[in-house]
Amino acid sequence: MNAAAYTIIDLAAIKHNIQKIREYAPKAKIMAVIKANAYGHGSLRIASALNDIDALAVARLDEGIELRKAGHTIRIIVLGGFVGEQELDNLMRFNLDSVVHSLEQVAVFEHYKGQQNITVWLKLDTGMNRLGLKDLDFTLAYQRLVACSCINQPIALMTHLSNADDTKSDITLKQIALFKQTVKQYQGEKSIANSAGVIVWPDSLSDWVRPGIMLYGISPFNDKEGAELALKPVMSLHSRLIAVKHIAAGEAVGYAGSWVSEQKTRLGVVAIGYADGYPRQAKNGTPVLVNKQRVALLGRVSMDMITVDLSTQPQAKVGDSVILWGENLAIEEIARYSMTIPYTLLCGITARVAIKNTD
Ligand SMILES: *Cc1c(COP(=O)(O)O)cnc(C)c1O
Repeated sequence: MNAAAYTIIDLAAIKHNIQKIREYAPKAKIMAVIKANAYGHGSLRIASALNDIDALAVARLDEGIELRKAGHTIRIIVLGGFVGEQELDNLMRFNLDSVVHSLEQVAVFEHYKGQQNITVWLKLDTGMNRLGLKDLDFTLAYQRLVACSCINQPIALMTHLSNADDTKSDITLKQIALFKQTVKQYQGEKSIANSAGVIVWPDSLSDWVRPGIMLYGISPFNDKEGAELALKPVMSLHSRLIAVKHIAAGEAVGYAGSWVSEQKTRLGVVAIGYADGYPRQAKNGTPVLVNKQRVALLGRVSMDMITVDLSTQPQAKVGDSVILWGENLAIEEIARYSMTIPYTLLCGITARVAIKNTD
């Protein structure tokens, strides 16, 4: 019997994707981005699967501490850095690298009285206008950090690309050029590329690459799927049929009756809803696999259920398997039908969805 909503995490696929990243960036070290519970895949299980990687990156201090408490000794970079002395103390205590992106952080290092050390990644803002320092602030921050005895030298350097998924934009090349020009006299290791950088911007490869979405087999581009980039999806989302019925012509289905049958229709009810992370915005016609065959979503997505058209599957019955995305149904396609991006779908998987390994 198939269980209600669960994901299967294919750890062989993630190893395949790492191999592809090595082919794209043969000279670079890899900082595998496993923030946000490894984009919904489970950060502890993904960290364990990535035992031969150079480093891991997370967004928050707590995500790094969770990995350390689970026994991971690999280098870990906290991309969001820290606020205040106590968080710095925790970064040091748990041996986590920190991104430094503000003058407030520089001042905390200057006032630090403890005995511990830390490795930092000073972030240049090359146009994203989110985290990072610009111009003279960046140069002064660098000099002030060089003078801090608690900071390991040389300081590592990074920036983040804002438009790397837009292959036609010249913004990325400008960001890369600004970064390279600004840090060229500094010795520390350098990092620019996210997944889109790894795939289409060879000038962004540098000493370290920071792939996230491509690790999980998903394309960072909205006009390409992972399979076209030789990537394999790591997560598949599964459920089962919990009811099968016929409705007459002219019947409205689901909340607000947003779909009305034109003829007698065989209808299936699937145990998946927005409380599991299936997107409420998914339109009529969004593909769903029932017994590995494509059928269409009908009506509105509810909290715990969706309804699908089983007209092409007269033999489908209660308990049969349903796949919402995975190997033969790209999450990129579901994202398009839901007017969102695969990132939000992956991160949106909720705690009630069980996670299973293939291995
Ligand atoms: C999330 C993140 C990445 C990874 O981005 P992808 O598009 O998922 O490859 C890389 N660098 C930074 C700073 C990030 O925040």
